[in-house]
Amino acid sequence: MQPVENYNKKIKRIVLSKEEIDAAVQKAGKTIDSWYDGRPILLVCILKGSFVFMSDLSRAISVPCEIAFMSVKSYFAGTVSSGTVNIEMDLDVDINKYNVIIVEDIVDTGRTLNEVVKLLKARNPLSLKVVTLLDKPSRRVVDFVPDYTLFSIPDFFVIGYGLDCAELYRNLPYIAEYDGE
Ligand code: 5GP
Repeated sequence: MQPVENYNKKIKRIVLSKEEIDAAVQKAGKTIDSWYDGRPILLVCILKGSFVFMSDLSRAISVPCEIAFMSVKSYFAGTVSSGTVNIEMDLDVDINKYNVIIVEDIVDTGRTLNEVVKLLKARNPLSLKVVTLLDKPSRRVVDFVPDYTLFSIPDFFVIGYGLDCAELYRNLPYIAEYDGE
């Protein structure tokens, strides 16, 4: 692997500290517990960006909980709202006997999750909800509202806590603004 130029300089400022994220994740876990009242759930992690959030969120939940992973790639031309979402790696369980929660890192235009929700609903889960760590509502091009959002942020590019820029920075323990200059 080549040395990475200006690695630290690209971290412009911390937007959400580890402590702020931890507190919000604990609160989200309690909310999820209250939704299901002891009934088992399946957490679906959309790779790769949600892996850190999923790991912490799953440990903040007390109801019986299974986890599954899915990887998707979306193709949208320009600003159109519909496109194609290809499943790169599918779930290893049949979800029709589960109360499913999709765990997402960030909702931006909303197009990817809109398609993923359609795909999973077609498999007839007992119920389906979406929990997202971050939301950029000002960027939305489709009418998509997550069931639970930990933080709404303005339109800037963020890295850390699972979110990358060219596959780097996912391991930062906080969320930062990326300096694209
Ligand atoms: P959408 O279909 O909602 O436009 O796309 C959501 C996906 O775009 C996210 O899952 C994420 O991969 C990527 N994305 C959108 N905004 C950001 C951002 O600020 N930082 C990073 N790292 N990825 C983003």
